[in-house]
Amino acid sequence: MLFYWPERREINSEMKDKKQVKQRIIDELEATSILVEKYRDLTKPIAPENAIGRVSRMDAINNKSVNEAALHKAENKLNNLQVALSKIDDPDFGYCISCKKEIPLGRILLMPHTISCVNCAR
Ligand SMILES: [Zn+2]
Repeated sequence: MLFYWPERREINSEMKDKKQVKQRIIDELEATSILVEKYRDLTKPIAPENAIGRVSRMDAINNKSVNEAALHKAENKLNNLQVALSKIDDPDFGYCISCKKEIPLGRILLMPHTISCVNCAR
C-alpha cells in the first residue's frame, strides 16, 4: 500500500489547497465587509458647522474624503472577492490563462479577479 502513497498525497494536497484558497477568500471577504461597514460609517454626512465648530468640521471633511477613497477601494475588493468565490469551483480557477501555471494565492487574494500570473500580466 505504501507504493501508492506519493500519488495519493498529491491528489489530497491539491484538494486541500483549493479548500484553503476558498477559506482564505472567505476570511478576506469577512474582513473586507467589516472594513466597508466601518468606512460607510465614517463617510456619513458631516454635522453642520455650528454643531461641531469650523476647525473640527474642516478636519471631518478632510477625513471624509480619505475615508471615501478607502471605502471605494474596500468595496471594489469586496466585489472582486465575491467574483473569485463564485468562480472557485471552476477547474480553471487559480491558473494563468496564458501559461496555464498556478497563480500564487497571494496574488489571488490581492487581485481575486485576475486571470493571469504576474509574468503574463506584464
Ligand atoms: Zn502566466
